[in-house]
Amino acid sequence: MLALVWKRSDVRESSRLVTLLTRERGRVVALAKGAHRPGSVLLGRIDFLNRVDVTFAGRGMPLLGKAALVHEPRALRRSPRFETAAHLCQTLDHAWLADHPDPELFDLTLGMITLVERAPLESLGVVVAGVELRLLRHLGSFAGAEHCASCGATIDQGPLWAGPSEGGLGCEQHRPERSRRVHPDALRWLGTLDTTAGRDWPRLRPGPQHGEVLALLGNWLGTALEHRLPLRPLCLTSLAVSL
Ligand SMILES: [Zn+2]
Repeated sequence: MLALVWKRSDVRESSRLVTLLTRERGRVVALAKGAHRPGSVLLGRIDFLNRVDVTFAGRGMPLLGKAALVHEPRALRRSPRFETAAHLCQTLDHAWLADHPDPELFDLTLGMITLVERAPLESLGVVVAGVELRLLRHLGSFAGAEHCASCGATIDQGPLWAGPSEGGLGCEQHRPERSRRVHPDALRWLGTLDTTAGRDWPRLRPGPQHGEVLALLGNWLGTALEHRLPLRPLCLTSLAVSL
């Protein structure tokens, strides 16, 4: 079964607990016996974000049987791809539930890693915004970029306002509390990201209001996930994005 190595922790001297993401079983914590021993067939394969072909054995906590390396994303070991992947993994991790298959989230996670590994450096900021936006959609916390969530009034009919805590926008009449007016170009750029397939994000260059879009997404995500995202500032700094 294809699995993504998500986390690792040492248990005993020679063994490790490995958290794997799979399409079929979701997020699985498995015991990798003897993974530390020199000569172990698992050595070097169960590294962060490696794609591996695995088998599980045992009842209760599964034992990791074999793990064949499918792909090692070496480009992610270097800045700024490293910081970008670290932030997006930490963010997506909050959406993963234990032992709950979520094929859509699995595809988003795997697609994210491929994009962060391969996209031109100048497009990484686009990839960050795109993945964050897809995650908000996945969580049901984003209603669309170019219209009022309450009445459907579009940006062509007047300015839209964004609240700090919802992925929805409001027109003059339906302004969320403590909201601020969003630049129409920021909303158009958000709309472009939303309607462009993920594989095509690397071809986009950040729109003029990219910083404002990232600020909005950061607020909405923090609320939707009920977590702070401490690696996000580091990621944006490494990409030279200012909000
Ligand atoms: Zn409205």
